[in-house]
Amino acid sequence: MNETTNAFKMAQQQFDHVAEQLRLDPQVREFLRWPMREFHFRIPVRMDDGSMKMFEGFRVQHNDARGPCKGGIRFHPSETVDTVRALATWMTWKCAVADIPLGGAKGGVIVDPATLKLSEKERLCRGYMQKVWRSIGPRRDVPAPDVGTTPQMMGWMMDEYSKLAGEYTPGVITGKPVGGGGSQGRTEATGYGVVYNLREAMLRLKMDPSKCTAAIQGFGNVAQYAAIGFKELLKGKVVCVSYWDRFDRTSYVVSKDDGVDAIFLQSITDQYGTIDKEKAKAAGYKIEDGSVWLQKDVDVLIPAAIEGQINAETVLQISDKVRIVAEGANGPTTPEADEVLKNNNVFVIPDFLCNAGGVTVSYFEGVQNDMNFYWTRREVLERLDDKITEAFKSVYEMSEGEKVFMRDAAYMVAINRVVNAMQLRGWI
Ligand code: GLU
Repeated sequence: MNETTNAFKMAQQQFDHVAEQLRLDPQVREFLRWPMREFHFRIPVRMDDGSMKMFEGFRVQHNDARGPCKGGIRFHPSETVDTVRALATWMTWKCAVADIPLGGAKGGVIVDPATLKLSEKERLCRGYMQKVWRSIGPRRDVPAPDVGTTPQMMGWMMDEYSKLAGEYTPGVITGKPVGGGGSQGRTEATGYGVVYNLREAMLRLKMDPSKCTAAIQGFGNVAQYAAIGFKELLKGKVVCVSYWDRFDRTSYVVSKDDGVDAIFLQSITDQYGTIDKEKAKAAGYKIEDGSVWLQKDVDVLIPAAIEGQINAETVLQISDKVRIVAEGANGPTTPEADEVLKNNNVFVIPDFLCNAGGVTVSYFEGVQNDMNFYWTRREVLERLDDKITEAFKSVYEMSEGEKVFMRDAAYMVAINRVVNAMQLRGWI
């Protein structure tokens, strides 16, 4: 099978498809198919046993036509520069679709953070900043958390940058802890953004959310708050979540027929997303193989883990009952699987629209840092809801107007906005 599994090829393929439909100028296409700038570096870290270990790191800046680059840093054992390039490209489209004045970037380090001691993590974070600090900044490129990184890590990175720059610079990075320059509502922003998108989709599809069920892949930050929001804001039922068990290196599905209690599950989950199976079983949860989340007879599937999970093979296991796929993760569906979803009339809320809540509140965090004035959680979440509702509306209207798949519609909205900014700046 020659399925597209390389995330960057996938991002380029999705872009090319829409660029063709938009009849985009070949030079503009070439401009947008590749990142503007990339940094590859090696980070030496003193380990607690006195030895020195080298880690490979990346920062890729895809496009800054609409404003400073923006995007998280992932700590992942199978990170590659191509994954970072794909994620940086998707950030450009994400910020454009959310209509926030930022561009796209992403960073990564090849490391399994669960293997590091706290002190080693801190030195790795500071080491990362030492390598990139001259190329980033509140008006250049603003990192944030992603898979494998936490608010605490953002706090260390902000501190390191501030020391190197010689002045307190909270706006250099977002997703910082509340009280350390962070914003209220940032932690739940991505998951809640998924839920606001779902509410808008259900309204259009005339589905009653309180009668809907969902299966979620993952139990990291996005999945946890998507699960909590699905129950609390929509009154729907989450039948299962899945997680990667870092002890037996296997993925599992945790389910309950009358719906999972995500707040309880959160209380028995460690910082790396591993749920305590024994405690879950004792509370009446069923533990199944990690792949079965996709086969559940539910109305909504929420892939909220990593790329490429719904592919040519797994897409065939999706139940006929599923009406919506809400992509909490970045790049969870391959172009081949997209074709199948399209043919089966499944409504897809594409990743860079569906998970734009995180970067939207990151933007709010930067604004609050600039003003040195902080909003309440309610203010943040209300503004987030407005932004997501508006973003969903523009993509949905494009999809209806042009009679195109939601992913293509999201690309059309995003590309038009980025190309417009490039034109206004005289780049093209
Ligand atoms: N890492 C998140 C994403 O993929 C958030 C990025 C940010 O806040 O800058 O959207």
